[in-house]
Amino acid sequence: EDSAKVIDGKSVAKEIREEIAAEILRMKESMGKDSATYVRNKKKSCEAVGINSYEVRLPEDSSEQEVLKYISGFNNDTSVHGILVQLPLPSHMNEQNVLNAVCIEKDVDGFHPLNIGRLAMRDREPLFVPCTPKGCIQLLHRYGVDIKGKMAVVIGRSNIVGMPAALLLQREDATVSVVHSRTKNPEEITREADNIISAVGQPNMVRGSWIKHGSVVIDVGINPVEDANSPRGYRLVGDVCYEEASKIASAITPVPGEVGPMTIAMLLSNTLISAKRVNNFK
Ligand code: NDP
Repeated sequence: EDSAKVIDGKSVAKEIREEIAAEILRMKESMGKDSATYVRNKKKSCEAVGINSYEVRLPEDSSEQEVLKYISGFNNDTSVHGILVQLPLPSHMNEQNVLNAVCIEKDVDGFHPLNIGRLAMRDREPLFVPCTPKGCIQLLHRYGVDIKGKMAVVIGRSNIVGMPAALLLQREDATVSVVHSRTKNPEEITREADNIISAVGQPNMVRGSWIKHGSVVIDVGINPVEDANSPRGYRLVGDVCYEEASKIASAITPVPGEVGPMTIAMLLSNTLISAKRVNNFK
């Protein structure tokens, strides 16, 4: 055979376009497109249950003053029952100032220091509990997992997940240990746990050998790891090595999967709580 191989520019061009599309997707995913996705999901979920939602999207170089002005407007608007500031904020803004500006009656994210303070105190009731940890506790409740008197270990101590999760478990009469980046021999502590909530941000850190037989594992972590076989070039895994842990735990949440949607469900729940409170509806 001496006939020449046909060089097919059309199909090579198509291949290149597909590669470009995959790269653009990968770049967008890694560049804070996350916030936009989260906001879109929250809006869709609101609509689906009958909650109106309004989005204010400001340019990244807006002043903190500008953001505070909008928050104050929503604080004073009686048709608004919940306000959430999608984090992270641009670096020139002070996160504390902005979060403190949300009036606590509308703080459906539960991040206001007064709400967190009440969560930490005996016989005080926060108006709202932060959504992700609230979702973790709901999962335990709805699966009939015992919390009271049991050993619970929370891995991570962030303001938005680990710390409030530990406070919530303590309110439910668990005995709580918190593991963080300075903890020595974390696996010895986690092996004591009946219930584990992990919010670390380290892919597959919690191995099978870290957990006790029959324990319950809630994995909050959402971590990208490189994966040449995935069209995006990466896939999402939890903090917990699912393969190993699922053989030892009595119950476990896969990633991606169960905790993410719970966060949004709890946001809707908090907004309903707020509207009921305002309208004195029991
Ligand atoms: P942060 O980075 O704010 O906090 C991580 C915590 O883990 C810190 O307390 C840190 O300790 C601790 N930590 C880090 N490395 C180690 C280690 N090697 N050993 C023990 N502890 C360690 O993260 P977030 O709490 O915001 O998020 C955690 C994970 O949860 C992420 O994967 C995030 O994507 C995911 N997430 C999921 C949500 C959902 O809806 N499912 C919502 C929010 C977050 P130290 O305090 O000492 O620095």
